[in-house]
Amino acid sequence: MSLSEINLGSIPLSKMLDLAQEHALQSIRNRLARDQAHCLPIFRIDDLARNLVAITAHDRAHLQNCPSCSRLFERVCAERQSQVPRSWIESAGRSLVTSLEPLPLGPAGWSPMRTLPWAESSDQQLEIEWILDRDREQLTLEIRSQLATIADQLIGVQILSEESADGDGGLVRFAQLLPDAEPGWWTTRLRFPTRELIPMHGIGGGVQAAPVQWETLQAIDRADLMRSIRECAPDSPAFVAWQDWGFTIGTDPRLPISFRIELQGLIDSHE
Ligand SMILES: [Zn+2]
Repeated sequence: MSLSEINLGSIPLSKMLDLAQEHALQSIRNRLARDQAHCLPIFRIDDLARNLVAITAHDRAHLQNCPSCSRLFERVCAERQSQVPRSWIESAGRSLVTSLEPLPLGPAGWSPMRTLPWAESSDQQLEIEWILDRDREQLTLEIRSQLATIADQLIGVQILSEESADGDGGLVRFAQLLPDAEPGWWTTRLRFPTRELIPMHGIGGGVQAAPVQWETLQAIDRADLMRSIRECAPDSPAFVAWQDWGFTIGTDPRLPISFRIELQGLIDSHE
């Protein structure tokens, strides 16, 4: 008997809730049974994501076509990758901007006597500067370059907490440089509410930024990239740039299918 065949008016509320719950559980059971018939076993996905077993052609073909297995695979990969420094920071070389100067943020809030850090990459092509909003509610990280080849790439930013001074963890966001009002410059601004930065990240460890080619993004980066898009206001130039980016790369088969679907969904949902 399906839920729609029951005359709900004649049943007490508690019984009705039991039936609804049983109905929900049954549809989950049905879905699991259906999935298990074709999908990779969960333990196999876990082993693959941890590089414990060699991937077969069948595994690869399935991961390229099945959103739910691809999603699980991405999640386990991201978890594993949170243990290691981001590859785009390790490979940035002279393009890396590092400011290990702690921000003047403490448990008590701002110490207004200190100036905010500014830094540039060792090739002098990428700059970052912290700006405090007048109301002190948020901190803005301005990122700038005059080089078109940098403006063509994504910019990755990692805010290091005191515990993550060795390069692990912290808060990672991605952004795109957009043409600035000042000719010859590309800029972008990432905003962070100070109330989030103070307790959660400490930012005693400073900040790092580098250009990133999207082809080199790992699962953990893709999760942070989705978060970065989600944080943009729907009508902002930054979001419009992400939409363009999504249209351009959203169908590239090199990207996991689960990421492509999530990216498409996010871009559509803001329209
Ligand atoms: Zn599957």
